[in-house]
Amino acid sequence: MHSSAVSLKTEQRFREDFELKRELPENLRLLDRISGNFFWSWRREGVELFRELEPALWEKCEQSPRLLLKRIRPLRLWQKSLDADYVDRIGTFAAMMDEYLAPGPIVQGRISPSNPVAYFCAEFGVHNSLPNYSGGLGILAGDHLKSASDLNIPLVAIGLLYRYGYFRQKIAHDGWQEERYNDVFESELALTPVLDENGDRLTVTVMIRGREVLTQAWLAEVGRIKLYLLDTNVPENSEVDRYITGHLYGGDSETRIVQEKVLGLGGVRLLRKLRIDPSVYHLNEGHSAFLTLELAREILAGDESLTFTDAMARVREKCVFTTHTPVEAGNDVFSPDRLQSCFSAAFVESLRLTGEEFLSLGRTDPDDPDEWFGMTPLALRMARSANGVSAKHGEVSRALWHKMFPSETAVDEVPISHVTNGVHAPTWIAPTLKALYFRHIGPNWTSLLTDPAAWREAIERIPDAELWKVHTQLKHLLIAFIRQRTLAKETGLQNTINEHEDTRMLLDPDVLTIGFARRVAAYKRWNLIMTDLERLLKLVDDPARPVQFVFAGKAHPQDLTGKQLLQNLMSINHDSNWQKRAVFVEDYDQEVARYLVQGVDVWMNVPRRPLEASGTSGQKAAMNGGLNFSILDGWWIEGYNGVNGFSIGELNVGRDQEVIDLEDAESLYRVLEEQIVPAYYSTDEHRLPVEWIRRMKDALATLTTQFSSDRMVRDYVAQIYR
Ligand SMILES: *Cc1c(COP(=O)(O)O)cnc(C)c1O
Repeated sequence: MHSSAVSLKTEQRFREDFELKRELPENLRLLDRISGNFFWSWRREGVELFRELEPALWEKCEQSPRLLLKRIRPLRLWQKSLDADYVDRIGTFAAMMDEYLAPGPIVQGRISPSNPVAYFCAEFGVHNSLPNYSGGLGILAGDHLKSASDLNIPLVAIGLLYRYGYFRQKIAHDGWQEERYNDVFESELALTPVLDENGDRLTVTVMIRGREVLTQAWLAEVGRIKLYLLDTNVPENSEVDRYITGHLYGGDSETRIVQEKVLGLGGVRLLRKLRIDPSVYHLNEGHSAFLTLELAREILAGDESLTFTDAMARVREKCVFTTHTPVEAGNDVFSPDRLQSCFSAAFVESLRLTGEEFLSLGRTDPDDPDEWFGMTPLALRMARSANGVSAKHGEVSRALWHKMFPSETAVDEVPISHVTNGVHAPTWIAPTLKALYFRHIGPNWTSLLTDPAAWREAIERIPDAELWKVHTQLKHLLIAFIRQRTLAKETGLQNTINEHEDTRMLLDPDVLTIGFARRVAAYKRWNLIMTDLERLLKLVDDPARPVQFVFAGKAHPQDLTGKQLLQNLMSINHDSNWQKRAVFVEDYDQEVARYLVQGVDVWMNVPRRPLEASGTSGQKAAMNGGLNFSILDGWWIEGYNGVNGFSIGELNVGRDQEVIDLEDAESLYRVLEEQIVPAYYSTDEHRLPVEWIRRMKDALATLTTQFSSDRMVRDYVAQIYR
């Protein structure tokens, strides 16, 4: 007894595969295949197939189809297998999926199936059932893959599989954030092991801390795109090495370096074993920049006469780099000692560099021996193209990295361009809004997204009342979701915005609803709306035209200031309606984000300018008819036209930060009081807020096309990859 319990436990430590070890009834068997490709997740019919199998269990399994298929009771399975209509729809969906997957990728200049783009990123947020992301960067990478798939671009993606993913957030009774990590290996991931031609697991090795660390690869299928995830949790490795791919952004700087070695060096080695010879390597953020060193090493190993500079020139031809933040904490830097201890002398020698030359590759000033090694300078040096993620961020990045370029280079000639971020419309647009488009625009409504004028015209034709009805339904759905989430929590002794004894009165579907969900980082200014609490509560308590708030977001586990800030927000406990008109939704993730961006009236964003590189959540809200209410920073500078949302503050910078904060807070309250509240609550004789709907339509018309990830990926192909 005892020994079998132990061996069972040991078994759980590795996953040989995630095969469904269960016989499904014959006519449901296609569900296994459908769940093996994330294509289902951005098709309304695909999500429905799994949800309706057993709705309560679907939520319990956190929308993981494979976990659902494993856990569902035989009785229910057999009931559904006898539901002819359901079985039909499985067949129809599988046929649609096959049709989608059938065409081969479209050659784009030198980008072809045998020479694709290799897209490297430290995190990928494809769907919640593959919890391999922390926030915006990962979601963006997921959306990039989905659009590359829809557009049929030859692209493969490389990342890491983190056994414990990113932390899950829980708020304690006293308002303090607590973290917990789930072992994703105990779940049923839609991954298959990558095998070689003999059917053995395909592995690559990377030298780390003097040991050859073995790395296995998993394959996730994202429509037509293959996403390979490297994982060091294999039996052959030592305990320590198995944890290299343990946590996403969890470890100390040494862990970060070795993770980034696995991603960069291991990723290139994997591509070689797969016989994929990319024409372009896309370094999506600096985490993967070590891949450039591996490419140089390969070139040098093949020709004894070359120097590192020769190799670098060839590497540069193939590499492009996207920087994602001007915030310091977002740009990895490592101390020279730490870096040197993580790269063997033999590796540095294989690059034909001295130790000092090696270190200088990561410095803005190569000759400053005290400067730490930065992944962004390394990437900027080793890539032929660099870009920021909005027009403003391009400009900010040129100024930030100007110091790396020859002194005669003017700031605006620094070779850093921009491609503004976008989001994947089929993933983020609410199914019921898609259905409205289907009815009023037609089954091919998505084809209009490339034609802004035709799209605007189509949006204008939708009757106001119908659009408003869809929006109202989505708001009801959001409120029901929030009430259930809040009720499911173990409740405390008093009502806070996080815990309620009775959630029936929480939030009101007739009240103007403002969403604010983002990481709790200093520059996001979570406390800006609390600048004048009395003025805020006056808005919330207004008897005729009240305002309510939905908050969500995680603080980094080590960020005590951020956690303090959250706790303060939780504990506002005045004699007001605040407790029932403000709520904090725990554990912000892709699923929570979907409910929020689809259901709120207003999406608020108050970053300290110019630190929001782009932001994408506001784009998701806009695609659902939400009105952005934001500082003019990142993407909003490009998106805002005076009708499709609201702006906060002025464009001026360079003054005392405290003064700017006060001015921005003043502007925030004023716009709320004088523009947003009146526009929302003024209705016509049919009780329709016509002015509001006009703005919603303008947002849908102007922002859906401009900020879709299809547009973004097309821009990457045309301006960066080719
Ligand atoms: C879209 C998204 C983000 C990024 O949003 P920002 O606008 O950059 O704050 C972060 N987390 C989740 C879960 C998202 O869906």
